[in-house]
Amino acid sequence: MRIAVIGAGIVGVSTAYELAADGHELTVFERRGSVAAEASFANAGIGGPGYVTPWSPARRTRDFVGSLRLRTALEPATLGWMGQRWRAGRVERCAATRARMLRLASFSRERLHALTRSLRLDWEHSDGCLVLLRTRRDAAALRPGLDVLRELGIAFDELDAEGCLRVEPGLSRATPLHAGIHLAGDEAGNCRQLAWLMREHAQRLGARFRFHTTVRALHPGAQPGVTHEQLGADETMRFGGPGDAASREGLATQPMALGPVTDTFDAVVVCAALGSPQLLAPHGLALPLAAVRGFSITAPLRHIEEHFDFGPRSALIDDRHAVTISRLGKRVRVAGGAQVGAGSARDETRAFATLHKVLNDWFPGAVHIRQAQQWRGARPTLPDGPPLLGASGIDGVWLNLGHGTNGFALACGSARVLADQIGGRAPAIDVEGLGVSRLRD
Ligand SMILES: Cc1cc2nc3c(=O)[nH]c(=O)nc-3n(C[C@H](O)[C@H](O)[C@H](O)COP(=O)(O)OP(=O)(O)OC[C@H]3O[C@@H](n4cnc5c(N)ncnc54)[C@H](O)[C@@H]3O)c2cc1C
Repeated sequence: MRIAVIGAGIVGVSTAYELAADGHELTVFERRGSVAAEASFANAGIGGPGYVTPWSPARRTRDFVGSLRLRTALEPATLGWMGQRWRAGRVERCAATRARMLRLASFSRERLHALTRSLRLDWEHSDGCLVLLRTRRDAAALRPGLDVLRELGIAFDELDAEGCLRVEPGLSRATPLHAGIHLAGDEAGNCRQLAWLMREHAQRLGARFRFHTTVRALHPGAQPGVTHEQLGADETMRFGGPGDAASREGLATQPMALGPVTDTFDAVVVCAALGSPQLLAPHGLALPLAAVRGFSITAPLRHIEEHFDFGPRSALIDDRHAVTISRLGKRVRVAGGAQVGAGSARDETRAFATLHKVLNDWFPGAVHIRQAQQWRGARPTLPDGPPLLGASGIDGVWLNLGHGTNGFALACGSARVLADQIGGRAPAIDVEGLGVSRLRD
């Protein structure tokens, strides 16, 4: 089949790879100049069933939006979304939603590992995630969450402070630490690097990437059409990403058509994250997708010969502050913050200050902080948690979007599931509750 994928974040690139591997002819449209230029650019890159499945206070047992302590602007649109989110978190819906997320997270991890082996992907990743509990009170608040983990069969170890130091010897002893939960089945990885590698492999299989090309409209049907327009690099910068040379790269290599062009395909897959509602609304599909803004800082690790264990080894979550720390090769990334709606400059300053504080509490002096890069991203988040995966109900149009706080963790599994659905095969996991029909429930 001739298939168009809209969006080249981690979800779109993984989808393009899986479809190309199945023998389809792929064209990927991306309004920015490179892959992973929006939400997939500098996220924390934590994955695994323990990370995805909501269980801890930071991840809020009844909160299917993931590890978010949300700050919400008092605007009608965001309050409506928060209402939907609250209803989705009601106890009677929790077990089913958790089971769906666990299935997809476990399958995604398997698929990521299989691809890493079979494609010999050489990328920055590490095993395990340690949840840090500063006080006895924090640990007590987490108890019900541990019962959830046990019920779901997610392996974890309860550690005292010394145990935490054995897992992460670089942790500062100056910051009080009561205990930790170690999730050996979770992991940390460089999402953007993975997307670049997957793009290369998709291209080797024949996939074409059209950068600086915005899709303006979809035309449903047996041969769905896509109206797209190539823009200058300066115009695509307004979408808020890095204005670096890499993001201008795609432009020079392609001749520019004048004005919008419509091409037809056998299927179109929308992986456009926050760009999706605009494309789907004219066809009667209103997506309750919110931009949940977050922040990260990334800095190179100091290299100190006699302190081999300086800095984190893998992923950590400071439960109190809902901040993650991840090791990405020779760098450390600290991420957190969750703001729905328009935030103020003060909120942002406060969020970055928290990231610095948490890094300084646990790994003081471990990075070259003057070389730190700051990043602001927005998670494409549905009110109930899982992404939307499968047929859209609009002729010829498929969906793989709305991964919220879990796009890195769920991309590989979601892509494989969707490729199977498009190919008319039964996916490897039960996809109940991941489709668009749940929006009508
Ligand atoms: C601070 C922070 C920390 C995070 N930490 C983690 C984590 O630890 N683990 C985890 O799993 N996830 C994490 N996430 C979430 C993760 O980053 C996202 O879920 C994921 O990147 C979403 O991927 P995507 O491909 O759907 O979206 P994107 O990466 O945003 O890609 C969508 C692409 O579609 C393109 N596009 C949109 N509209 C159009 C159009 N009309 N035409 C052409 N192109 C279009 C955009 O330019 C964009 O490149 C974090 C997010 C943030 C903000």
